Amino acid sequence: MKPPINIFWFRRDLRLDDNVGFYEALNGDNPVVPIFIFDTEIIDPLPEDDARITFIFDTLQAMRKTLQNHHNSSVAIFKGTPERVFKTLIETYTIGTVFTNHDYEPYAKERDIAIESLLKSNDIDFKTYKDHVIFEKEEVTKSDGKPYLVYTPYMKLWKEAFKTHDLTIYYTNEYLDNLIKNARLPNLSLSDIGFKKSQQIIAPYTITPTLIEAYESTRNFPGLDATSRLGPHLRFGTASIRKILKKAIAENNDTFWKELIWREFFIQILWHFPKTTTNAFKPKYDRIDWRNNEAEFKKWCDGETGYPLVDAGMRELNTTGFMHNRVRMLVGSFLCKHLLIDWRWGEAYFAEKLHDYELASNVGNWQWAAGTGVDAAPYFRIFNPTTQIEKFDKDHKYLKKWVPNYQEFNYPKPMVDHKEARERCLKTYKTALN
Ligand code: FAD
Repeated sequence: MKPPINIFWFRRDLRLDDNVGFYEALNGDNPVVPIFIFDTEIIDPLPEDDARITFIFDTLQAMRKTLQNHHNSSVAIFKGTPERVFKTLIETYTIGTVFTNHDYEPYAKERDIAIESLLKSNDIDFKTYKDHVIFEKEEVTKSDGKPYLVYTPYMKLWKEAFKTHDLTIYYTNEYLDNLIKNARLPNLSLSDIGFKKSQQIIAPYTITPTLIEAYESTRNFPGLDATSRLGPHLRFGTASIRKILKKAIAENNDTFWKELIWREFFIQILWHFPKTTTNAFKPKYDRIDWRNNEAEFKKWCDGETGYPLVDAGMRELNTTGFMHNRVRMLVGSFLCKHLLIDWRWGEAYFAEKLHDYELASNVGNWQWAAGTGVDAAPYFRIFNPTTQIEKFDKDHKYLKKWVPNYQEFNYPKPMVDHKEARERCLKTYKTALN
């Protein structure tokens, strides 16, 4: 019999340090083979120059290099369905345990149940750990055990629980010598995976004391580069939430901290209510008679609505894969309320384009913008796309960057009249809700 090994399965935790499941694997009873699977169920629908795939690929190659240079080891990279890949691994190795970290998305939950059962039928243990969040699942609930549906009381209890929470850092990189040695672990190139290098770059994040200190007063202005750009790093795990929180706490900035709690709020909502990916959280809102005009949707996607701040946001998204939060709220409201286009269309468009796309946050925020979700903006709150400029881009810095021709005569005329669109929206929502 071949000597036994354990496996660590990287998913949304692409880092060698402060990684709970990886730490546990390295402290287990066998040498560890670390693996990553480009899951065809997830990657097949993506465009071939998807920036997120390039980012994952580059991150894995950097991890391989570190392990090769310093620990005579590596990360095995596969493409396929996880079930197929695990069947091959079971044939190749004598596996004791597979370690991994929790993933809370509906597809991932089903996938993990299937993999656990495949492993069990081969006498292999499957051990999973909390790594992606501070509090998960049922850890912050109301006194009757039900999930919070409103952010503020959730946030207060989260903070209360955090006071006694042990914010341990898992110094995983001290145990990397427990990886399997001298093994030629399989690698793939981008083209083997079916992709090519993206022109768009996922930038490193900034979390300096200056940014955090100024965050409260600057975060709402899209013309300032004043937010952290942490999104993709938390999504793919190139940043550890524990280390980030340690920094945020050191700077004692409540506002920044609260944004990180919004992320966990939506992750627990998705965990408890997986149907919200397709259904309005409040069922009545699925009666809204969306207009769903395809030509209008295209104008919105292309940043050609004639409302410069909406257009600037969409052009920033299309060009860079990022859009400032303030503008995300506006374009979301504009699509659902001014154009009466189903929030699911907007959610899908963002899912394709956003580098920081995260199912829980995207669905949660889109349902918030449409007024259909938990703790959502009331349906009669309709952002005025013109006065938003006065409030948040007074000097037109953001407009000048993304729609430099916004004052020229040939700039598109507003595709809908604000007042008329507002009234039409209120009427449509009222009809649905009565
Ligand atoms: P910062 O302002 O520096 O915030 C730090 C971190 O806090 C973020 O990276 C994020 O993890 C978290 N955070 C901040 N605001 C929110 C929020 N409202 N909800 C949940 N987490 C938050 N965020 C995503 O991570 N993925 C998405 O797919 C996504 N889709 C959105 C769709 C719409 C319609 C709207 C209105 C917002 C969406 N957001 C999403 C939330 C927010 O816009 C982004 O998290 C933020 O703009 C990312 O930039 P940053 O990393 O510089 O954020």
